[in-house]
Amino acid sequence: MKTIVYSIKDFERSYLLKANKMNHELTLVEEPLISDTAALANGHEAVIVFTGDDVSTTVVEKLHDAGVKYIAIRAVGYDNVDIKTAKDLGIKCANVPEYSPYAIAEHSVALMLALNRKIVLANKQVHRYNFTVGNLVGFDLHQKTIGIVGTGRIGSVAAKILHGFGCNLLGYDIEEKQELKEKYNLKYVNLKTLCSSSDIITLNTPLNTTTKYMINKEMLDVMKTGVMLINTARGAVINTEHVIHSLDNGKIGYLGLDVYEREKGVFFYDLSKNKVKDDVLKKLMSYPNVIITPHQAFATNEALSNIADTTFYNLDCWSNNNASENELTNKGEENTDYIPTPFRLKVVKLNMPKR
Ligand code: NAD
Repeated sequence: MKTIVYSIKDFERSYLLKANKMNHELTLVEEPLISDTAALANGHEAVIVFTGDDVSTTVVEKLHDAGVKYIAIRAVGYDNVDIKTAKDLGIKCANVPEYSPYAIAEHSVALMLALNRKIVLANKQVHRYNFTVGNLVGFDLHQKTIGIVGTGRIGSVAAKILHGFGCNLLGYDIEEKQELKEKYNLKYVNLKTLCSSSDIITLNTPLNTTTKYMINKEMLDVMKTGVMLINTARGAVINTEHVIHSLDNGKIGYLGLDVYEREKGVFFYDLSKNKVKDDVLKKLMSYPNVIITPHQAFATNEALSNIADTTFYNLDCWSNNNASENELTNKGEENTDYIPTPFRLKVVKLNMPKR
């Protein structure tokens, strides 16, 4: 099947080529999929997209006009893909529902530890031959209460790891997991109780219409003063403006972000020579008690290998006229949530290949 892979990054290229096993004729482009680059898909039956791609209504329509029949999402989250429009136009979509929940859960815990034990500051000080400890005092995770919002695959691994630290676990989810209650003594509570009772809150839900801005002023106001908030899910699960207000008034003591509401067209790019005109991001970066990583939680060898394998498994199914169990377009309406988020094209240098 002739397939175009958008937003290809150096670190994933070898995994994707290996998983393809030369089965499909691939066009690899570094450009993100956006309205202006949709025409690159002309003559391709399938497109492979990533979380930073803009697979909005207009783009899906353009892909349809270009003759695309399949969209393979090389990610768990698909809030950036208008599945409903794709379905209406007869385009099949599939994601990679599980590749390594360990990668993301471990990164969430890495953020917790880095914030608590002030690892970034300590390393900076030591490199300046300052070996004092006075400003590096943290707290034991042992016996602290951790609120896990979203106890699916990633949240369950987080529960297992944090149980190992001796933490008390609270969970909030629309579906409870008996196993987590029995094995890790996790107690399910409502979101408000979780927010008011936790020392650390970690977010692991998909972004959809029910979770957008789930962490907002109302929830922040009931949190413990000095709470630690970790978001490796999707940027818009938190209301960034409200979170900034809570950093300013001291309600949030620590913030760890792997995702950001307006990350599209920014995260995954080297913009060190550009001027990023995003005052909200700049403001977030100005706090000493905030750590931001560039949507890297998925970036482990194991995860990249599994992402590539399942992506090409989905394509293989379609090219053999089989349905993939990872198809999103044959699921109910509840699975077709699409949350349009702005793609800041201006900061991305589009390097359209000559053809
Ligand atoms: P999952 O589907 O296994 O778990 C998600 C959980 O959220 C489910 O238990 C679901 O019931 C729950 N949920 C959904 N809506 C909810 C709501 N309104 N209130 C409470 N709970 C709700 O998914 P997962 O594999 O654990 O991944 C979770 C999310 O993490 C993904 O959707 C994706 O957005 C994000 N993610 C981020 C990265 C990264 O690199 N930072 C990588 C992978 C996934």
